[in-house]
Amino acid sequence: MSVISVERAVPDTSGLVRHDWTRAEVRALFVLPFPDLMFEAQRVHRVYFDPCEVQISTLLSIKTGGCPEDCAYCPQSTHYETGVTAEKLMSLDAVLAQARAAKQAGAGRFCMGAAWRSPKDRDLEQVCTMVEGVKSLGLETCATLGMLTPAQAERLKGAGLDYYNHNLDTSPDHYGDIITTRTYQERLDTLSYVREAGIHVCCGGIVGMGESEDERADLIATLASLPQHPESVPINALVRVEGTPLADAAQLDPLEFVRTIAVARVTMPRSMVRLSAGREEMTDEAQALAFLAGANSIFYGPRLLTTPNPAEARDRALMERLGLVPMAI
Ligand code: SF4
Repeated sequence: MSVISVERAVPDTSGLVRHDWTRAEVRALFVLPFPDLMFEAQRVHRVYFDPCEVQISTLLSIKTGGCPEDCAYCPQSTHYETGVTAEKLMSLDAVLAQARAAKQAGAGRFCMGAAWRSPKDRDLEQVCTMVEGVKSLGLETCATLGMLTPAQAERLKGAGLDYYNHNLDTSPDHYGDIITTRTYQERLDTLSYVREAGIHVCCGGIVGMGESEDERADLIATLASLPQHPESVPINALVRVEGTPLADAAQLDPLEFVRTIAVARVTMPRSMVRLSAGREEMTDEAQALAFLAGANSIFYGPRLLTTPNPAEARDRALMERLGLVPMAI
């Protein structure tokens, strides 16, 4: 019996942290045969992490709706009729009650999201009080409040904020089809202010928004060539919401989502790669593959801002079936 030998052009994925990933290299990773890509992702994952541990975050919308931005996927934008109404900033007590419940359910990090273009200074003060309160419960804190000035980033750091989330959303080339009210550069600027203030960065994007595979690769290449990789990289699958321009977007092949996770893992070996929005529509098997591809963080809880998330019981059952355990903070 003859054995067919296949020469495979496997790019350099030695697991060393690099910041000079080119688009071509990342695109080459995306088109590797699935077994080769998964093997590389597993190999790199095990260099820096226990593959059986999953970091658990809970996300709370502390200020819902009424956002002036026009992100084409977002039900909280005032540009679209989605049934989401604008609410006021939640009270400190209400936020702390949710944080206590999240901790009891096993979360290690509590993320607070507000639908603002950028926070007003008086609102920021209230958020700082929330950060201090949540931290005092023994949880890591994260906030996503829109664009920040350098002074606002410093203020959040002073309150003890551990992470700031600000996503790039998509590739530089696809960006103009998704958002017109803020530039890609403004996003990069906020990320650099957060970094300079000494806050950990949480930054990723959304796939399945009509981008090409090359554009998915370009998003990952942009993240992986930041001067310092984000400590958390949320990879979201678009949740198609009625009333938004992307309500009828074609559903992304789940294996393409898994590839995106794997490429993020290979190119950002020390980052937490978070399986974020879109899990509700994913099968347990697709999620299991995403964990095998190097995802090691999830959002836990029944809602992600305004869209559904798997029930905690389903998550617990899946983690048990896969032998996964929550990561200690
Ligand atoms: S994604 Fe954020 S910035 Fe964009 S419309 Fe929604 S809440 Fe506003």
